[in-house]
Amino acid sequence: TVGWGFIGTSNIAKQWMAAAVRHQPGHEVMAVMSNSLSRAEMYAQDLKIANAYDSFAALLADPAVDVVYISNTNEQHKPAVLAAAKAGKHVFCEKPLALNLADAAEMVSACKQAGVVMATNHHLRNAATHQAIRAEIAAGTVGQVIGVRIFHAIHLPQPLQTWRVNDPKAGGGVVLDVAVHDADVIRYLLAEDPVDVMAYAQTGGMASAVEDGAMTMLQMPSGALVQTHESFMVPYAGTGLEVHGTKGSIVARDILTQRSAGTVEVITETGRRQLDIQHHNLYHYSLAQFAQAIAGNGQPAVTGEDGLKSLAIALAMLKSAEQGQRVRIDYPT
Ligand code: NDP
Repeated sequence: TVGWGFIGTSNIAKQWMAAAVRHQPGHEVMAVMSNSLSRAEMYAQDLKIANAYDSFAALLADPAVDVVYISNTNEQHKPAVLAAAKAGKHVFCEKPLALNLADAAEMVSACKQAGVVMATNHHLRNAATHQAIRAEIAAGTVGQVIGVRIFHAIHLPQPLQTWRVNDPKAGGGVVLDVAVHDADVIRYLLAEDPVDVMAYAQTGGMASAVEDGAMTMLQMPSGALVQTHESFMVPYAGTGLEVHGTKGSIVARDILTQRSAGTVEVITETGRRQLDIQHHNLYHYSLAQFAQAIAGNGQPAVTGEDGLKSLAIALAMLKSAEQGQRVRIDYPT
């Protein structure tokens, strides 16, 4: 058995990741760790996890734990990753990896030095929809990509309106929560890393001390421009993405989601074509690839370096919004 230790009694672990681990043949969630032992115990009982702990040391000392999944709040990812790497455990870490680039770079390098696999949980590029769009772009269907528009304004459900909307120290705010995923999407779809960004952010009523809405523009090395819109406060926009090129356009709807859903239409001079998407579970897909990587075959779907780059982009968005200026994106090497 490949035993997983869950660090953080989070909603995402409960809603998606525990089931996704258990879906992998030979993988099981063996332990959970919280800052509160009673919370760990309740969570363990609820999710039928054998062991509950209240320290990294205790969880990492459990011989049944081979891999850790880190989904506590964002400021706690770094100490968790460093402790796991030191203990020789493979790491599957939530986004954003950290609150600043130096910390994220240290996490990636600690895993590399320890010889453990590190993955970042950007789910969207694991979707069949995004994979199909990337393939169409790579095949030249739309010609040269001129512009991409990403619509990712959603309504944050009331139970999630906690640290995300009121705690800058925990890495709250829509940019580190949502725009960081869009940063990964754009890198994945266009297979290039944005050069610079201009962004506006707003604090429109749901959040305090952090931003709850943002619009950003990114410039790609190819010359393509990218627009993104993220919000916690928009219930009815729906999500979507459009890629516009010299020979065609791709119009995708309902694809910035954790669900296996969405549609992709390609429009060229030959007409409109709805892609036949064979949807699969995003988290099952990434865990299958992670299982292969820890067995020595290939890379995770989204590596630690990918998480570092998406964070670099998100932090540049925040800096641009704060300074009211274009910001060059600083990618650590
Ligand atoms: P939650 O808000 O559900 O949990 C975060 C932490 O809050 C837990 O680790 C826990 O601390 C603490 N907590 C939970 N319940 C209570 C409570 N009743 N009282 C006090 N503290 C409590 O986090 P999310 O699931 O929303 O997000 C976790 C991480 O996952 C974040 O990094 C987020 O960015 C990321 N995420 C990623 C998604 C993706 O698709 N990739 C989707 C959603 C989130 P403790 O561990 O100490 O018990």
